[in-house]
Amino acid sequence: MTHESVVSRPPLPRQYGDELLVFDHGEGSRLVDTAGRSYLDMGSGIAVNALGYGRSDLAEIAANQMRKLIHVSNLFATPPQLELANKMIGAAIPGGSHASFEAVHFGNSGAEANETAMKYARLYALNRRGRGHHRFIAFSNGFHGRTMGALSVTANPAYREPFGPLIPDSLILPFNDIQALEDQLDETVAAVIIEPIQGEGGLNIVSGAFAKALNSLCRKHDVLLISDEVQTGMGRCGAMFASGLVGLEPDIITLAKPLAGGLPLSAVLVPANVNALLKPGHHATTFGGGPVTTAVASAVWDILSDPAFLAEIRRKGELLESLLASGLESIGVAGEVRGAGLLRGLRLNDACYDGVWCSAVIAAARDSGLIILKTGADVLRLAPPLVINDDEIAEGAAILFDIIKKLTNIKGQNNEK
Ligand code: PLP
Repeated sequence: MTHESVVSRPPLPRQYGDELLVFDHGEGSRLVDTAGRSYLDMGSGIAVNALGYGRSDLAEIAANQMRKLIHVSNLFATPPQLELANKMIGAAIPGGSHASFEAVHFGNSGAEANETAMKYARLYALNRRGRGHHRFIAFSNGFHGRTMGALSVTANPAYREPFGPLIPDSLILPFNDIQALEDQLDETVAAVIIEPIQGEGGLNIVSGAFAKALNSLCRKHDVLLISDEVQTGMGRCGAMFASGLVGLEPDIITLAKPLAGGLPLSAVLVPANVNALLKPGHHATTFGGGPVTTAVASAVWDILSDPAFLAEIRRKGELLESLLASGLESIGVAGEVRGAGLLRGLRLNDACYDGVWCSAVIAAARDSGLIILKTGADVLRLAPPLVINDDEIAEGAAILFDIIKKLTNIKGQNNEK
């Protein structure tokens, strides 16, 4: 990155890197940097901006609500908050009648939603089974956030190790390993937390057999199953909840990223059996569920939950999948296309196409006007705004394979040396 829209050593923590591209505005699926250069965005601010940029409909809702009322605290309620919560608990639930959501806890981030779900699960286990039934189970390559509780159930050692000790008795089991689950899941566990598709950990999908085992073991031991749909939920994978796509029957679902169209809002869908135990003082957050974010989210919910909109995501997701598969064929490199809906990953089957190579592709794509992401150690991730059109999908795939071809040629030449 050398051009004038890049800031070096910004007054931001160095965890974000020493050089950042500065964006000024956006329209549809395109972002424009401060030098006026346009980029096709296939990252959506890490799977957030589901409805794309320049949404005057959402801006108007937010502005109108800001003129009326910005904040009242959780000692009171507001119409947008109640309207959104009612829509959410009325949604079709993965697993049918198993769980019935009775309330929605609104927060500000995905990590906070998972923290809340973990607290609820501890409360539930304590009430049902007494002290000593507090363990958490999570899975390899899973990602649930960076606050201390959410980090305790996040697998990546690079994220965990500098900050230990984390919450004791939080166990990371191998993903999709039924035997390991059977060995560990008993009544001493308060909750299992899992993503239907691992958004940050490589787009690995929960297998049908594993989902079945997890559902039944959780029920057998009265352990709450938390499905972290912070990244997969709200249409990203072609359904409002990806849990149903993989056969998970969760007791609690957490949502965040696209919920308020880019404004910070998260939600925990709370089942009746947990809600019955909650008393004032058990949990709260100052900004959670304010009238501005929930007014916008209510409009976002209506758009995303429309069956025709969801069908379009599935159709466009299949188009993207087929373009990625044919792109691989065209460059003659064996690889794998992963994911569902408009959350797709591409991994090339050669040890040389590793994380460093992935980062080089991402940087070259950015320089060619395409924003893409990485997931796991070595998987390229595409998570475009859900409003992206077919031409843009084709344009993105073409730029991507152009870059991959060039970098693959360079790699081939290096190998020949
Ligand atoms: N859970 C999942 C599945 C995520 O993908 C993320 C963020 O990437 C989080 C939790 C954490 O969300 P936040 O960054 O809003 O705290």
